[in-house]
Amino acid sequence: MLTDFSNEPLLDFSNDTSRRLMAEAVEAVQSRLGAHYPLVLGGERVDTRDRIRSVNPAQPDETVGTVAKADAALADRAIAEAEKAFVTWRRWDPAARARILWRAAAALRRRKFEFSAWLVFEAGKSWAEADADTAEAIDFLEFYGREGVRWSREQPATRLPGEENHVFYIPLGVGVVIPPWNFPLAIMAGMTTAAAVAGNTVVLKPASVTPVVAAKFVELLEEAGIPPGVVNFCPGSGGAIGDRLVQHPRTRFISFTGSRDVGLRIWELAAKRSPGQIWLKRVIAEMGGKDAILVDETADLDAAADGIVASAFGYQGQKCSACSRAIVVKSVYRDVVERVVARAKTITVGPPRDPRNAMGPVIDQAAFDKIREYIAVGRGEGNLVLGAKPAEGPGYFIPPTIVEGVAPAARIACEEIFGPVLAMIPATDFGQGLEIANATEYGLTGAVFSRDRARLERAREEFHCGNLYFNRKCTGALVDVHPFGGFNMSGTDSKAGGRDYLGLFLQMKSVCERL
Ligand code: NAP
Repeated sequence: MLTDFSNEPLLDFSNDTSRRLMAEAVEAVQSRLGAHYPLVLGGERVDTRDRIRSVNPAQPDETVGTVAKADAALADRAIAEAEKAFVTWRRWDPAARARILWRAAAALRRRKFEFSAWLVFEAGKSWAEADADTAEAIDFLEFYGREGVRWSREQPATRLPGEENHVFYIPLGVGVVIPPWNFPLAIMAGMTTAAAVAGNTVVLKPASVTPVVAAKFVELLEEAGIPPGVVNFCPGSGGAIGDRLVQHPRTRFISFTGSRDVGLRIWELAAKRSPGQIWLKRVIAEMGGKDAILVDETADLDAAADGIVASAFGYQGQKCSACSRAIVVKSVYRDVVERVVARAKTITVGPPRDPRNAMGPVIDQAAFDKIREYIAVGRGEGNLVLGAKPAEGPGYFIPPTIVEGVAPAARIACEEIFGPVLAMIPATDFGQGLEIANATEYGLTGAVFSRDRARLERAREEFHCGNLYFNRKCTGALVDVHPFGGFNMSGTDSKAGGRDYLGLFLQMKSVCERL
C-alpha cells in the first residue's frame, strides 16, 4: 500500500558509511566524465554536429560531458513528438502515470550517491548541498506522483435536481520546461514530472551549464518506463531556441524557473498569439530574489548569525532563496556584524570533491565576472569587512564576501547578485527594518530573528514574501512542508512542492447531463 508522503532524510557525512559511499561515488563518476549525450526526441537518440560542453566549475579544463545542441528545426521536432505522445499519454490511468514517478524515485534513492556526485562535478555543489538537491528530487517524484492521483479524482459539485453533473481536471497539452542550473536535479526533475504526471507531454530544455545531470535523469525516467515522446530531452542555447519553443503555436504552456529578465521575456512572448495558435498560453515563471533576514535587539544573536551565514553562503549564495541582505536593528548591529564575520571566516572554499570544503566554485566565468563586478560596486557602497579576493585555484572560486554599512537603496542592496556577497544594513528599529526588507521589487524568501511575539505577528502580516521563516535560516524549503514561490518580480508564486502546484498543469472540465 502507498504510504503517506514523507521527506527524504538528508545524509550525515560525519557518518563513516555515508562518507565512504560518497567518496566511492565521486571516484566512480570521475571515471565516467566526458561522455556524450544526444537529444532524446520521441524516444529516439538524435545527435547534432554542434555540441554543448559541460565543464567542472572547480576545474574548467575538465569536461563533465557533452550534449547535442538542438537548433530551431529540432526544437520544432521536439514539439511535434510531444504532441504525438500526448494523444495516448493523456488517456493513461493517472495511477499508472504516478507509478512511473515512484519507480524513478526508488531508482534515484538507490543511486543517490551517484547522482549527488554528478552534482558535485557539474554544479560545484558541496557534498551536503548535492545530497539536499538529490533528496529534493526524490521528494518531488514521490509527492507529485501522489498529487497526480489526488487531482485525478472527481471534484465536488453541488447537486441540482434533474441533472447529473461531473467536474474533473484534464491536462493542457504540450509544455516547454525551462529550468535553471542552480538545482539542476531537483528543480529540473520537479518541473518536468509535475507537468508529465498530470497527463501533459514535455519538451525539456535544460540549462546549458548543467545538461548532463538532466540527461542522466531522462535516462532514469526511461528506465522507470516513461513512454517515448512524453519527456523530450532538447538541450540548446536558451537564446537560440528558447524563443522558438515559447512562441511555437502548439506550445500550450511554459514552465520556467530562472532570472527575472528571461522570465519577463517569456511572459511577454507567450502573451502574443502566433499564427495558427488557438489558445492562451499559460506561463508559470519562478524568478529571482533579493532575500532579507531581519534581526532585532531581542533575538538570539548567535542563532541569527548562524542563520545569516548558512543562508548567505550555502551553495556559494547561488540559491534564489539566499540571504543577500541582513538588516539589523542598530543597538545590536555591530555585535551581529562581528558574529557573522567571525563565522563566515571559518568557511573553507575549494574544490567540492573534497568534503572538507564547505563552499565550492560559482557556476561559470560569466557568474564569476558578474559577482566580482558587484564586489567592486560594493566597495563604494559600504565597508568591505570580509572576502573580495578570489580563492586559490583554476576554478571560479569566490570566498564569502561581506559589505557592511550599506544603505537600503544601494545597488548591492537592491539587485540580485547570485553569489556569496552579503550586504549588511543597519535599521533604526524593527519597523524601519521591515520597511527596508519590503523595499525590493522581489518577494521570494525572508526571515526574522526576534523573541518579541508582537513583532513576529506583525511580520507575519507585513513582510511581503512568498516564504517567510521565523528564527531560522531562509533557505532549505522542503517539499510539502514549505511550498515554494515568490511575489512581485520573484514570479507567479507557483508554490512548487505544494498542493496547488499540479493545478497549474491542468484545466477543469464540467460535464452536465439532463436527466
Ligand atoms: P537564466 O539565465 O534565466 O536561465 C534559466 C533558463 O532559461 C536556462 O535554461 C536558460 O537556458 C533559459 N533561457 C535563457 N534565455 C532564454 C530565452 N530567451 N528563452 C527561453 N529560455 C531561455 O537563469 P539561471 O542563471 O539559470 O538561474 C539563476 C536565476 O534563477 C536566478 O535569478 C535565481 O534567483 C532564479 N531561480 C529562481 C527560483 C525560484 O523558485 N524562484 C529557483 C531557482 C533559481 P541557457 O542555459 O541555455 O541560457
